[in-house]
Amino acid sequence: MSAPQPFVDLEEIARARTVIAGAVRVTPVSVSASLSDLIGVPVHLKLEQSQITGSFKLRGAANAVASLLDAEKRRGVVAVSTGNHGRGLAYAARAAGVRCIICMSRLVPQAKIDGIKAQGAEVRIVGNSQDEAQEEVDRLVSADGLSMIPPFDHRAVIAGQGTLGLEILDQVPDAATVLVPLSGGGLLSGVAAALKARRPQIRIIGISMERGAAMHACLAARKPIPVEELATLADSLGGGIGLDNQLTFAMTRALVDAVILVSETEIAAGIRHLYWQERQIVEGSGAVGVAALLAGKIASSGPVVAILSGGNIDMGQHHRIISGEDVDVTQEAA
Ligand SMILES: *Cc1c(COP(=O)(O)O)cnc(C)c1O
Repeated sequence: MSAPQPFVDLEEIARARTVIAGAVRVTPVSVSASLSDLIGVPVHLKLEQSQITGSFKLRGAANAVASLLDAEKRRGVVAVSTGNHGRGLAYAARAAGVRCIICMSRLVPQAKIDGIKAQGAEVRIVGNSQDEAQEEVDRLVSADGLSMIPPFDHRAVIAGQGTLGLEILDQVPDAATVLVPLSGGGLLSGVAAALKARRPQIRIIGISMERGAAMHACLAARKPIPVEELATLADSLGGGIGLDNQLTFAMTRALVDAVILVSETEIAAGIRHLYWQERQIVEGSGAVGVAALLAGKIASSGPVVAILSGGNIDMGQHHRIISGEDVDVTQEAA
């Protein structure tokens, strides 16, 4: 057992903002007239799906790569990821001239492999599960000295995600409630640390899907526990928080005011609303805040900010959802 690490603080997040300023986009905020009418207070959408690589994950990845020592940069970075973390890390590494290897299992669909390759990473296909891919990562770390960059439970990653919170402070200084999509808790930990340091009275609401909400289950159990991963429209929110979680469990527990769960039908309604009413293409994980608002699950006495955390959705699936087809991913294999 290692000693508990101190929380990532405002100073680390402010430093991250300077470090990654040239590597990431300051994403816009737009007021939603339809959602403001519905809730009775201004609702602002933080359009982070328009971030380079299609999600906020670039922020943490860029800060983590920048934080490496020169000798580590010469050896390269490695991660297991089929999704937004892999894309962000691949892009950040290439921009910094650092080698990047992303390991994936043989079960990963070709489209996801191509998405990561397009960002310039080497892709290594190993084994038949995420665990076997992780073994290859461990081997590259010990044999070749590559640095493993995890998707959330890492100081520099959390500080990078926290820069999104600093942007919200600038863009919506009177925000009362911020809706943060929640999986491993890197985004929520960073954003909440930034916002609560400057505005202690602000409310931070984590939003997860009903199917496989790992952090929610761990908070209820008061410790990291294994949670079964289930197929969901919010696929970027799947997966556990790690039984040996060092930072994001403790930070989320201390900083989150509530966690709200949304159903598959509610997530689909969120995606649909964002397209037809707001003209935004958002993936399921990025639409959970709007899903919760539409479902009447959020009350706020002041302005609300919903973070649209990503936009990497299969466009065929998106088309079916916005066309009102009944898209049920829960019958498919995870
Ligand atoms: C990773 C991700 C999340 C969740 O972030 P955590 O730091 O794991 O809580 C939310 N939305 C999108 C689009 C993501 O890629």
